[in-house]
Amino acid sequence: MSKKVHEIRKLLMEHHDWFKNSIPLIASENITSPAVDEACCCDFSHRYAEGWSGQRVYAGCKYIDQVEDICMDLAKEYFNCIHADVRPVSGVVANLVMYNAFTSDNNGKMCCMSIVRGGHISHGPRFAKSGREIFGTAGTTRGLNIEYLAFDNDEMNLDIDASAKIIREFEPDLVLFGGSVFLFPHPVKELGDVAKEVGASVGYDAAHVAGLIGSGFFQDPLREGADAMTMSTHKTLPGPQHGALVSNREDLIETLRSCAFPALLSNHHLHNVAGLAITLTEMLEFGQKYHKNVIENAKALGAALHERGLKVLMEHKGFTESHQIVVDITDYEKTIGLGGDIEKLLEEANIIINRNLLPYDIAEGRHYQNPGGLRLGTSEVTRLGMGKSEMTDIAEFFENLIIDKKDPKKVKDEVADFRKDFQEIKYCFQTPSKAYEYLKFF
Ligand SMILES: *Cc1c(COP(=O)(O)O)cnc(C)c1O
Repeated sequence: MSKKVHEIRKLLMEHHDWFKNSIPLIASENITSPAVDEACCCDFSHRYAEGWSGQRVYAGCKYIDQVEDICMDLAKEYFNCIHADVRPVSGVVANLVMYNAFTSDNNGKMCCMSIVRGGHISHGPRFAKSGREIFGTAGTTRGLNIEYLAFDNDEMNLDIDASAKIIREFEPDLVLFGGSVFLFPHPVKELGDVAKEVGASVGYDAAHVAGLIGSGFFQDPLREGADAMTMSTHKTLPGPQHGALVSNREDLIETLRSCAFPALLSNHHLHNVAGLAITLTEMLEFGQKYHKNVIENAKALGAALHERGLKVLMEHKGFTESHQIVVDITDYEKTIGLGGDIEKLLEEANIIINRNLLPYDIAEGRHYQNPGGLRLGTSEVTRLGMGKSEMTDIAEFFENLIIDKKDPKKVKDEVADFRKDFQEIKYCFQTPSKAYEYLKFF
């Protein structure tokens, strides 16, 4: 075997070994089940199937079409809607489909969450107000002019009255809800009505919260007025890395389809469509229990960290209604450092989290590289079978490292020991054959 191949395989093994012994708390990540992994490794990954199922540009698609049809049907069932496009290859690509469908390509305008308050770079303008070039996707690829909705830092949510005023004045083509720091449901109903007043479409980016929504928690954007909802399929929805777009607007289906293909896609990563189909069967079966526990664990982790003296935002609202919590670590600036430093410290102890801007960071002179906050998510630890008592154990590791300044090497051994009991993936069919049975097709 070539030396390089050997080296790559060794790195993959080391990565797996590391993650098996870690506590994974990145809010945008999750883990796929054995049945999903099996589907994602199938021959579909070698094939092409451009276009809509049944109208492909390639031969050899008869089984691919059937799997994609099943996947679309499962997505329609899970999200209770009449249109599901499972071709976008990621959440960002699904957003591009939405921009194509709902905004003008000539000075189009969009209102959305500000990036520094938890919006996503794919919603961003090409240039910041200051004139600084920032290459946000919406501005760079579609030339959209962006006006941010108003945000209430104390409630960690959109400010309805101030945002309504902005929408009325700016008169956008599209008002987009959703974000990457996302603790509480957005006021889609209230501001969606204002959007419609000025003739704007309403979009909802459910990249983070798609699983919570599909399982019936959080909020229900398609019934609150969203014309389309985009998502990543690998965050709270524990599927392969892919994207999707769903809608209940019969009159828009043709446009939405064409805005994906031919407008944006050629091949659409067919193996991941197969994996997504399996994921959706799992979530239709286990999602209600899983996502209820994800949210309960997030609240429990927030409370346990708070009890140990860490400043978790939004105590007065029970910390969160989603899979995420946000911690302000600015008290430790003098002793350890800010978000970037604490992220590194935790990583040394095999606790994987990400640093995050707090909504008031920019105003207080901190920036993205070393912000004042941490964002923690409970999707993956819940899928590994952890519950409330493990959230207390995790909070203790944080206390040991950040407050007691215990040696991260020692904590790392304790983390590996703790993780020994959580090596199986839960809320899924325990053998791949059962998953295939459920699909009936295999
Ligand atoms: C993660 C995220 C995306 C990007 O999704 P990908 O699947 O990584 O392309 C889009 N929007 C929001 C709000 C996100 O958090």
